[in-house]
Amino acid sequence: SELYHIEGWGHPYFDINEAGNVTVSPRGDEKKLDLFELVENLKKRDVNLPLLIRFSDILADRLARLHQCMQEAIARYDYPNIYRGVYPVKCNQHKQLVEALVDYGKPYHFGLEVGSKPELMIALATLDIDKTGETLLICNGYKDKEYLETALLAQQLGHNLIIVVEQIKELFITLELSEKLNLKPQIGVRAKLKTKGSGHWGNSTGEKAKFGLTIPEILTVYKTLQEKDLLHCLKLLHFHIGSQISSIAVIKDAIREAGQIYVQLTQMGAGMKYLDVGGGLAVDYDGSKTNFYASKNYNMQNYANDIVAGIKDCCDEANIHPPILVSESGRAIASHHSVLIFNVVNSNTPPYKLPEPVKEKEHLLIRNLWETYESIDEENYQEMYHDAVQFKDEAISLFNFGYLTLTQRARAEQIYWACGHKIYNIMKHQAYVSDDLEGLADLMISTYYINLSVFQSAPDAWAIDQLFPIMPIHRLNEKPTEKAILADLTCDSDGKIDKFIDLLDIKKSLELHKLENINNNEKNPQYKPYYLGMFLVGSYQEIMGNLHNLFGDINVVHLANENDNYQLQYIVKGDNVANVLEYVEYKSDELQERLRRLTENALRENKLTLEQSQLLLKNYDHNLRSYTYLT
Ligand code: PLP
Repeated sequence: SELYHIEGWGHPYFDINEAGNVTVSPRGDEKKLDLFELVENLKKRDVNLPLLIRFSDILADRLARLHQCMQEAIARYDYPNIYRGVYPVKCNQHKQLVEALVDYGKPYHFGLEVGSKPELMIALATLDIDKTGETLLICNGYKDKEYLETALLAQQLGHNLIIVVEQIKELFITLELSEKLNLKPQIGVRAKLKTKGSGHWGNSTGEKAKFGLTIPEILTVYKTLQEKDLLHCLKLLHFHIGSQISSIAVIKDAIREAGQIYVQLTQMGAGMKYLDVGGGLAVDYDGSKTNFYASKNYNMQNYANDIVAGIKDCCDEANIHPPILVSESGRAIASHHSVLIFNVVNSNTPPYKLPEPVKEKEHLLIRNLWETYESIDEENYQEMYHDAVQFKDEAISLFNFGYLTLTQRARAEQIYWACGHKIYNIMKHQAYVSDDLEGLADLMISTYYINLSVFQSAPDAWAIDQLFPIMPIHRLNEKPTEKAILADLTCDSDGKIDKFIDLLDIKKSLELHKLENINNNEKNPQYKPYYLGMFLVGSYQEIMGNLHNLFGDINVVHLANENDNYQLQYIVKGDNVANVLEYVEYKSDELQERLRRLTENALRENKLTLEQSQLLLKNYDHNLRSYTYLT
């Protein structure tokens, strides 16, 4: 288990049991589910891999923890106001998830944040009207007249809705509309802070940030509202310094800066009531608890403490009443609850066959390579590596000029690979290996072919090198013997995962088990199922996924606790081939009809028998209705 650092990133939800399988504890308690058995059971229900399993109770637990941490900080610092969080819908918009969150959030008056018109449509119809008026609906993102008009009118339904001005013109449209409709808006401003985020997602602040208002622009908002005698409508200050903020120091700086803006706006007479600290609360993907971009050097309680203490200090110094604190954590709430399970379909290990001893008459180069192979030992392995590479390169040059036959080249390459294996086996046991042998270590990495599209199911792994913890979900009592990268089903060389979490570094390969051949046929092996899990994938991945090579949405199942038992709540079947073809405007019946006509032509020309043509049409029909992945 240490190989995969599961304690670091998985606690308290993921662990390993005595059978060597990954377990899931959806409520972070003693009640654990065996993930491998769960997958086997789902397969018996015809829910095939790849598969996304959502544990709704993890979602509930994350929400409760965040609320608990804020409550604790409020109590610890005697903060004279409350916390009202919102979930940013952009993080994962799926209906089942948003509905579950709204439901779990009710006891905490947890609201929603939207960043676009479609997300606003979801929130307006999903968020219950909270009679106390404490549940917030925060409207972020670029807004047009339609967005603003809908938001203003929806306020009258009873939603505690705040329009956050991201561009100055949104203020003017809002004021025009509210005058026309005779409605008073609740207005927020998003500030472009100077504090810079860090890591992959850290470009949301600073003068060049895409969103938000500069300080002079915030003053324009202030003056405009003042002139119209609407300063009381300016109620919220918002900032967002980026997602996955790994360093607590950055968060502290931002709080200090935003705290001052809040204080001054209040002192200038604005009706300030809320301070919204945005998202950014990071997830420890590698379990290292450092400020590396895949981790974070603070926990949720530190985060809550720094927000509460920071704002309280600012307000106390200025002698003003501290605001209701709002945060928009997405990643920290949604990531843990989804696990992506996929199977390995095949593996490609570096070629190795014990070469036949060289014969006297063989080409000099082959004899040299053989001699190198034979003489490799612990003393000279580094030197022999360079010799082997040189002879192999010479063999290729000779072949290119016609001095080596195809058979001779094959023989040279085979001995070269045998040298590689022999050296690698020595190298593995050395405490120190020089840099020039790193190339060999890379060459010895196997490729495991996985039944998945990285573009569809883990797009950030491809687009921005995000690291997710990946590990086998069974056979964990067995020592893995292979080091491998993962290659997906797409015909795209970028469709691979070749960076893995490590505590102090990024690993170039993942430790995996040898696939078990169950039919004893080396030429056409059939492997015992081998399942891998990719964890912490509940935020952003699903919606950013794309249809590269037309691999569609995967099967999704929801598990939730009902009457103290984890039940399969519902299954959302993934796309079939006809579905994805429709996205690109192909109609199944038209395709089938065209194929039917082609079979008629082939029949006429006696290229197909009637039975063969029927078989082809039957296959075509079956394929249209089947999963886009390998079954
Ligand atoms: N709020 C805003 C305005 C955002 O742009 C984002 C995402 O980047 C979030 C909240 C959610 O951030 P996170 O997932 O880091 O909590």
